[in-house]
Amino acid sequence: MKNKGFTTRLVHSDRTLNPSSDGAIHFPTSNSVLFEYKDVNELVAVFQGKKVGHVYSRSSSSSNTALQNILAELENGIGAVTFATGMAAISAVFLSLLKQEQHIIVSRYLFGNTRSFFETLQNFGVNISFVDVTDINSVVKALQPNTKMVFTETIANPVTQVADLAAIGKFCAKHKLLYVIDNTMTPSILFDAKSVNASLTISSLTKYFAGHGNVLGGVVVDTGLYDWSNFDNISTHYKTSDTAQWGLTQIKKKGLRDLGATLSPKAASEISIGLETMALRIERSGKNALRLATYLHAHDKVKNVYYPGISDHPQHYIARELFGGNYGGIFSIDLEDNIDGHEFLNHLNTIICATHLGDTRTLALPVATTIFYENGHEQRELMGINDNMIRFSVGIEDIDDIVEDLEQAFNKV
Ligand SMILES: *Cc1c(COP(=O)(O)O)cnc(C)c1O
Repeated sequence: MKNKGFTTRLVHSDRTLNPSSDGAIHFPTSNSVLFEYKDVNELVAVFQGKKVGHVYSRSSSSSNTALQNILAELENGIGAVTFATGMAAISAVFLSLLKQEQHIIVSRYLFGNTRSFFETLQNFGVNISFVDVTDINSVVKALQPNTKMVFTETIANPVTQVADLAAIGKFCAKHKLLYVIDNTMTPSILFDAKSVNASLTISSLTKYFAGHGNVLGGVVVDTGLYDWSNFDNISTHYKTSDTAQWGLTQIKKKGLRDLGATLSPKAASEISIGLETMALRIERSGKNALRLATYLHAHDKVKNVYYPGISDHPQHYIARELFGGNYGGIFSIDLEDNIDGHEFLNHLNTIICATHLGDTRTLALPVATTIFYENGHEQRELMGINDNMIRFSVGIEDIDDIVEDLEQAFNKV
């Protein structure tokens, strides 16, 4: 299947990667928590990683393995670990791979909850430099002798800054740093993180992967590009003969088994169904977003539009190169100063005011008073977030209906 297109591979992946003995098209949802073996010796071998199998479903189950096989294949990776949420995947990576006194370089433009997690990590003694990832010089300047990793999102929300992903990849390769990319905004159909030398990708499966706002999930994929023998925090237990598996093994053991944020088998099955239409949904929402952003850019009640697909966006050219003409489904706007954003949002009928993104439905949210409220004014300013900013996550609706909804709301303010 490797040489077939993205969606062909996807809709046939259950049968090719997870074949069933009864001819089932979908992998089964297996709810068993415990697993029996023919004798204790075999059970012990599975426990010690000498034989493949499951021992307890907090650590692994056939439903999770099946989804992991599909996700690793889609990203051209060597393996994947699934989690209960995207935040569980993020926290597991850093908690399982870092120690006190070590240093990481992290994007200043982050999903609010991820930023909040890094502040917790600082409380445990990990040193973090928050830098402007659109500018490679600020990444380079942050390097210290004890730097272990660089972490960035691809297109940050809500302001849509695009990281200089290729330049950061070269920098990480040169200094043997682990390069971790949160690829939630630009799943591999849009952006191949491996092409910029990413070591690990993290994605919230809740967003574009599952796509329908009915299930939570997260995943970490190892691209196979990083040489884990350069990473000195790997426990001797996990230093097996296959160096390539060291990182994911530790993430699985420390980050999943010990922390326990396991994806339920039912959620794994639901995500795999949503996944089948991901490419179609992303294509449609990207087209819709470009159309809406262009409409809003020309509107006299809108002061600014932040969307990498608009040619005056500061990273438009980088984005065009990286994402092949689809700039994703997220953008933000500032309304003209004399317009009350909350009043405007209250006039919307079709567009839903809710937090979430990557859904089939178009969503709008005032960000400073909600998801970035805890960050406070000063930190928001550093992230480029204005107090009256509204974020849109564009869905797959018939776009004329969404334009009409915005137009009637503008007419009332
Ligand atoms: C939503 C999101 C997350 C967290 O994912 P959950 O599944 O909601 O925990 C992480 N990173 C980005 C960029 C996100 O948009």
